[in-house]
Amino acid sequence: MKELVRSRSLELYRRACLLMPAGVNSPVRAFGSVHGTPLFFAHGAGAFIEDVDGNRFLDCCGSWGPLILGHAPPIVLSAVRQACQDGMTFGAPHAGEIELAELVQASYPAAERIRFVSSGTEAVMSAVRLARGFTGRSLVVKFSGCYHGHSDALLVQGGSGLATFGASSSAGVPAGAVHDTCVVPLDDEQVVTELFRERGDEIAVVLIEPIPANAGLLLQRSEYLQFLRDITRKHGVLLLFDEVISGFRVGSGGAAARYGIEPDLVTFGKVIGGGMPVGAFGGTQRIMEKIAPLGDVYQAGTLSGNPVAMAAGCATLKLLGAERVYSRLEELGQRLEDGISEVLQTQGGCCVRVGSIFWLGFQSDPPRCLELVAAAGVQRYSDFHSAMLDRGVYLAPSGYEVGFLNHAMTEADVDYLAGAIRDSLPG
Ligand SMILES: *Cc1c(COP(=O)(O)O)cnc(C)c1O
Repeated sequence: MKELVRSRSLELYRRACLLMPAGVNSPVRAFGSVHGTPLFFAHGAGAFIEDVDGNRFLDCCGSWGPLILGHAPPIVLSAVRQACQDGMTFGAPHAGEIELAELVQASYPAAERIRFVSSGTEAVMSAVRLARGFTGRSLVVKFSGCYHGHSDALLVQGGSGLATFGASSSAGVPAGAVHDTCVVPLDDEQVVTELFRERGDEIAVVLIEPIPANAGLLLQRSEYLQFLRDITRKHGVLLLFDEVISGFRVGSGGAAARYGIEPDLVTFGKVIGGGMPVGAFGGTQRIMEKIAPLGDVYQAGTLSGNPVAMAAGCATLKLLGAERVYSRLEELGQRLEDGISEVLQTQGGCCVRVGSIFWLGFQSDPPRCLELVAAAGVQRYSDFHSAMLDRGVYLAPSGYEVGFLNHAMTEADVDYLAGAIRDSLPG
């Protein structure tokens, strides 16, 4: 193990900082909570990425989730090339949109009708507007620790214990924008029951990441998700599953199939774009017909359903459907878990995993809500992250982020990863 040479990354970082705030186009890319400055990447192939200094890493960030097949899979590349040659955008309908919608719908029956957009943020923002338009109600219920993109109304974390109203997590979000957003902790039936008792007829939608993967991996009890399904139905409230990460990641039916629960609305992103900027929202026909031009809830997008992005998504979903990708990813995930669990446990840590998504917690019990994610543990991640970089493994630069395995990884890669984790643990 040798320390990384970072001179060219550092040079690019300095240039970038003169042009872009902190040199990045998304804050999570800055190495704010780990050591050093961001690496700049030049190539990705299969399971590996290479930075501008020629350092090669096993990529466990996977662009934050989309790259379930690894980097530049040949089938996706050739589909993208063809689509580019045929015209990069029309701003008019084309067959690629139908093809991707058919693939999504075939795997996810709750999405009777679908609309494509260009990011997960856009998908959730639009679905929430639709839910409010459909129900004629204003209140939105979200859970602390669940991330739903950066639209104003959803930039609320809340936090401790009780339901909190309208305290935004970002400057620049006026109180009015979050006034109708209510944040409750995950895994707590009582808080939700009380909220519904008091304001059930004002709530438009309850939105949740059914597999919360943006603040550690907060796996929920299936009874809890069923409880949310039941209580929302009883009060005429819509249930929105934000499957931007879990959709086509934990299986082709997402969390809905895994838990056997049908939401009224669903949002997708990440994997369904095959590495291109894509988001989508869908739901029952009755709800989706409220969207313009059929209905009076407005939503639009210059590049929505972009042909190149649709082609990348189609090629990805077809391959996911054709080969035994998910069972293989489960095997790789189990292999990783087997390789690290014991050592983690002896050090007071834990590995939380679902399929190819994993989170290494520097705390003994896997948390089911944000309030139980130990901040001290997350701080220990910083040294761990640089030790992993030195061993040639790229993890997301924050202890709250999950890691991803992908289909390009071999068993040997996963064994290497497990060894690197064991050797990099704080001890
Ligand atoms: C990533 C993510 C989003 C936002 O998607 P973007 O494409 O980054 O806008 C929304 N919801 C969840 C659950 C996500 O993980």
